[in-house]
Amino acid sequence: MELTYTNKTALVSGAGRGIGREIAMGLAKAGCTVICSSRNPSSCGAVADEINASGGKALSIPFDVSKPEEIRAACVEMLKQFDSIDILVNNAGITRDNLMMRMSDDDWQSVIATNLSSAFYLTRGLLRPMMGKRWGRIINISSLTGQAGNAGQVNYAAAKAGMIGLTKSLAKEVASRNITVNAVAPGFIETDMTSVLPKTVVDAVVPLIPMKKMGKTQDIAAACLFLASDQACYITGQVIGVNGGLYM
Ligand code: NAP
Repeated sequence: MELTYTNKTALVSGAGRGIGREIAMGLAKAGCTVICSSRNPSSCGAVADEINASGGKALSIPFDVSKPEEIRAACVEMLKQFDSIDILVNNAGITRDNLMMRMSDDDWQSVIATNLSSAFYLTRGLLRPMMGKRWGRIINISSLTGQAGNAGQVNYAAAKAGMIGLTKSLAKEVASRNITVNAVAPGFIETDMTSVLPKTVVDAVVPLIPMKKMGKTQDIAAACLFLASDQACYITGQVIGVNGGLYM
């Protein structure tokens, strides 16, 4: 079966690198017009340039997802250019790991703002026209850590688990408008985010993964592309684990 994406506009947050970049490239290759966003204008700008150079359609709109006022301004700008955003991928995320006893207020608040509140503000800002159009796909990039917990990541796990609650609740609110809301929960994926982990941590985790290897950004993009397609119309409120079988 061929997956189709007829005349769709997509926004991918955190599209400048890693998983977001791969999702943006994949959606563009599938024929979507893609708005690439990240905090740093040069990272999302480079991805949009790469898409346009290879015959796709993209533009970049940089904004900081941890700042509600920047999200609001970006939503106004996007909805000036497009009637509605059809596919929203809430992907931007950070880690600020530490044990609970040593975690600062700022470590907690910046991760909650960037990884969880951002999905609330961005989705709310784009939902009305999506509801009016009676078609939409919202894909939230959660994490295995949000499902299973991980020592040293109470902030990150709380944000990613919160994203799952947001996903399941919103799915029930908007199902009658033909909008699906799903989460993808990656395991350990090779990106800048995991390249900072000490080798000892990676060497300890990889043997625990039933597939005995870390995942690639393409593995996450494949799940997102499926969920974004016309054909995934009856899947909503789900969390798709993409983790090589690792579930602690
Ligand atoms: P990454 O390589 O570190 O890339 C993160 C992207 O998010 C970058 O484009 C970055 O923008 C953007 N970003 C970060 N803070 C932002 C902010 N305040 N405003 C706007 N954009 C911001 O990360 P990744 O590994 O691809 O992770 C992508 C998502 O998957 C995250 O939500 C992460 O939690 C989740 N995830 C990753 C893994 C993994 O193993 N890698 C596992 C589970 C879940 P700039 O380019 O401007 O810096």
